[in-house]
Amino acid sequence: MDDSPEALAQLLSDAEHAIALTGAGMSTESGIPDFRSAEGMWQRFDPMEVASLQTFLRKPERFWQFHRPRIDMLSAVAPNPAHEAIAELQRRRVLHSLVTQNIDRLHSRAGSTDVIEVHGSLSRGECLQCQAMTTLEELVVKADGAADGVPRCDACGFQLKSGVVMFGESLPAAEISAAYEAAERADVILVVGSSLQVAPVSELPSIVRRRGGKLAILTEGDTPYDSVADVRLRGKAAVQLVETVAALDASQQRN
Ligand code: NAD
Repeated sequence: MDDSPEALAQLLSDAEHAIALTGAGMSTESGIPDFRSAEGMWQRFDPMEVASLQTFLRKPERFWQFHRPRIDMLSAVAPNPAHEAIAELQRRRVLHSLVTQNIDRLHSRAGSTDVIEVHGSLSRGECLQCQAMTTLEELVVKADGAADGVPRCDACGFQLKSGVVMFGESLPAAEISAAYEAAERADVILVVGSSLQVAPVSELPSIVRRRGGKLAILTEGDTPYDSVADVRLRGKAAVQLVETVAALDASQQRN
């Protein structure tokens, strides 16, 4: 099979249960830096210093100093044509499940439904001590009103976190099971904008392939699965996915 949007469109339309797994590269064209590219965030920050459970527990001011401006940045951006193309593939029932490592909510804002957010989401605040929940808006008001910038729980006074999973924290069990169930049913998995270096999500392509399913990868950088991919697209996610939708239209018109 050749490595073109037409080949990806063919793979997806031949599938009975196609799923997508997306990563940070999906949102770089919305202006959110990814983690591991040359301009990625981990070139400028040490993740264990700014985004870990350990820092959250021991130095909540440091954690919130990094996290609070990120909430504003992530709230100010908009979905890009890659998110819109994925939502369109879901609407057409070409894609049956969507698993994302992104916490930016851009898939939902582009119209995707039932998004499985395996690394959590920015959409809420939580207390790790008494499990109270807040809205994102309440979390921001509390952070901005605190002298040290740390939002605290009304019920127990402990520092609050957002719904984003921190390094050192467990991934949400329900979302991880949903992602595995989707992969176990899938005959095609399309990976977009992920380096496939973060477990356990990086195992989803193996689960699909073990059962004879096909793998398509659309990511600028290298991944450990490149040599076994059935379709391997490089280049920008937005351009390639818009062309994939156009290729589906063209093949429907021919038939
Ligand atoms: P990663 O940074 O490891 O890999 C991103 C990949 O996407 C790289 O291979 C890069 O070359 C590629 N890429 C960048 N821009 C692209 C584009 N426009 N088109 C196609 N490919 C592009 O990211 P990952 O695999 O998602 O790593 C997982 C971690 O990143 C997760 O923990 C996730 O929560 C987190 N993350 C999320 C966001 C977000 O919510 N937008 C942002 C940064 C990091």
